[in-house]
Amino acid sequence: MDTYFKQKTIARNVALSGTGVHSGKKNNITIKPAPENHGIKFQRVDLPGTQPVQALFKHVVDTSLATVLGSNGAIVSTIEHLMASFAGLGIDNVLVEMDEYEMPIMDGSAKDFTQVFTAAGVAVQGRPKHFMIVRKPVRVEQGDKFVEVIPEPCFKITCSIDFDHPLIGKQELTYDRAKNNFEKEISHARTFGFIQDIELLKKFSLGKGGSLDNAIVIDKDKILNPDGLRYPDEFVRHKLLDSLGDFSLLGMPIQGHIISHKSGHTLNHAFIKRFLENRDAWETGPAKMESNT
Ligand SMILES: [Zn+2]
Repeated sequence: MDTYFKQKTIARNVALSGTGVHSGKKNNITIKPAPENHGIKFQRVDLPGTQPVQALFKHVVDTSLATVLGSNGAIVSTIEHLMASFAGLGIDNVLVEMDEYEMPIMDGSAKDFTQVFTAAGVAVQGRPKHFMIVRKPVRVEQGDKFVEVIPEPCFKITCSIDFDHPLIGKQELTYDRAKNNFEKEISHARTFGFIQDIELLKKFSLGKGGSLDNAIVIDKDKILNPDGLRYPDEFVRHKLLDSLGDFSLLGMPIQGHIISHKSGHTLNHAFIKRFLENRDAWETGPAKMESNT
């Protein structure tokens, strides 16, 4: 049986530290293995007595600049790339300890997270992984942007983007869990921004830790990073990375085909809300494939 259908954790504790992109504050992170059915939880060790925050959509308190979770007086921010790394590697159960509220931005991708997890080893657990199996299509739209899911016996996400910029333009990519390699093909893709937006964020004193070391920065007709792009279509690959992270807040992977066009965190979250409300559009349980082998 494909080990994808089993729950997974990491084989040993891993530690990393870095600076939050919005707060500019250093955060020391320890990620620990956790038992079956634990899920992904964040513990603020700098706030003694607070309960861990489970990485679930119902705990999302803000998405304006980053995904922020909060419950019982503890918040954790900018978790999306770490969540993408868990989703991409199929990791279900871990405890993330942190001593500040904002996850480090690292290099703006999920590369460092993914590398420490694969170096530590992904440990297969005994119980089957649970899925949300799509029964009926669900779609949200906003102008020409949309996110939808279609029932299919697969685990696919197709993202497309369309920027009126000569270096980006139209890009489309499908990530199929069964065919693609998250670490090689997606995890290195960095977040991107336009120089004028970054200047604006700095004026409002957000983006304190932002630099060419943790984002692709685009001017009118050139990329300012001296080493250029990591993939020719790095932009859509990062959209896919963000989508994996956002949809992982369902608490279990979707069995079906998610298709998004010009989406971002806000529309992804609107989709999750509608999907959860449409109780007849999905059921939970072990994956149902023609063949699980
Ligand atoms: Zn991102």
